[in-house]
Amino acid sequence: MDDQYDLDTLAVRAGTTRSQFGEHSEALYLTSSYVFENAAQAAARFSGAQAGNVYSRFTNPTVAMFQDRLAALEGAESCVATASGMSAILAAAMTLLKSGDHVLCSSSVFGATTQLFTNILGKFGVQTDYVDKPEAAAWQAAVRPSTRLLFIETPSNPLTEVFDIAALAAVAKKAGAMLAVDNCFCSPALQKPIQLGADIVIHSATKYLDGHGRVLGGAVLGRKEFMDGVTGFLRTAGPTLSAFNAWVILRGLDTLRIRMDAQSASALALAQWLESHPRVERVFYPGLASHPQHALAMRQQRSGGAIVSFEVKGGREAAWRVIDATRMISITANLGDTKSTITHPGTTTHGRISEEARARAGIKQDLLRVAVGLEANADIQADLARGLA
Ligand SMILES: *Cc1c(COP(=O)(O)O)cnc(C)c1O
Repeated sequence: MDDQYDLDTLAVRAGTTRSQFGEHSEALYLTSSYVFENAAQAAARFSGAQAGNVYSRFTNPTVAMFQDRLAALEGAESCVATASGMSAILAAAMTLLKSGDHVLCSSSVFGATTQLFTNILGKFGVQTDYVDKPEAAAWQAAVRPSTRLLFIETPSNPLTEVFDIAALAAVAKKAGAMLAVDNCFCSPALQKPIQLGADIVIHSATKYLDGHGRVLGGAVLGRKEFMDGVTGFLRTAGPTLSAFNAWVILRGLDTLRIRMDAQSASALALAQWLESHPRVERVFYPGLASHPQHALAMRQQRSGGAIVSFEVKGGREAAWRVIDATRMISITANLGDTKSTITHPGTTTHGRISEEARARAGIKQDLLRVAVGLEANADIQADLARGLA
């Protein structure tokens, strides 16, 4: 299925293939390997002379359905599924980079992403600099002749900073580098980075693509030539997505757009309520007119997304009091679930980085992050109102 269909249709149907049994629901192929009709066929499959399945580290029909569906949703030439979001970033980096290469990464990315670039890829001679401003001029100024990759997340976690994908794609292009966008927070239901000029899209399918907090998964998407390299890395190194997880995430994709729209609408209502609350210092949400990049966010996203962060008056104690007074919202660092979650970034997700790095990222001890789920908005508000009172 191609882009003549609406995203809603692609989310339910793209990539579906049927076996000889004609099953309507996507089949779960729990098999590590595949049998051949004879020795000659085995040899042809192994050499690549004949297309077909060999081993599930290489290909699996259930995983292929997920890959084809996500590629259709993102408008990408090709998609490769991975065991987790982190292995998606690793696979993209290992495909693109070699010793001596330079990476420009936003300082507002998932904590493990900075560890991967600095601690792991750094050991192999890849050097990463962090840019702490969204403006393209700051990125342009940090480019070196050896820069091969620009890496961003937009909106960022937890302060919902919005990066101009088209402007950064132009910086990357001029530098002969690629722009990778971690599209985890928006999903293709709200934002399509490739249409805006990104070369690579990264997903943690663990979040909104599954959407129900059940399994880990990830994906890399991009142009065919680059993705052939990613496929080669995965075949050899092995962090492939399990067929079972692909099957679970396929069910999540059916309702992706409906969930994202409902959770975003609820997040906007919550952000507006928080902004008018006397005990709240400041609200970070791209859908609010008060957000410094509201216009840009509304240009490149369908809505503000489902993550709302806010600073409460009274520092860390007041922030913790809000968390401890909840009875319904889950106290957990995960996000992208139908169940709302609340986190204190300063002592959890961003607790292990230095005080200085935290200050540079603008993450204060009075900050809370809520990932809005599908519960009634009034119940979410009431759960937060108790601790704010
Ligand atoms: C969770 C997350 C990741 C890592 O994904 P895993 O599936 O946990 O490996 C990467 N990027 C963002 C933005 C995330 O939220």
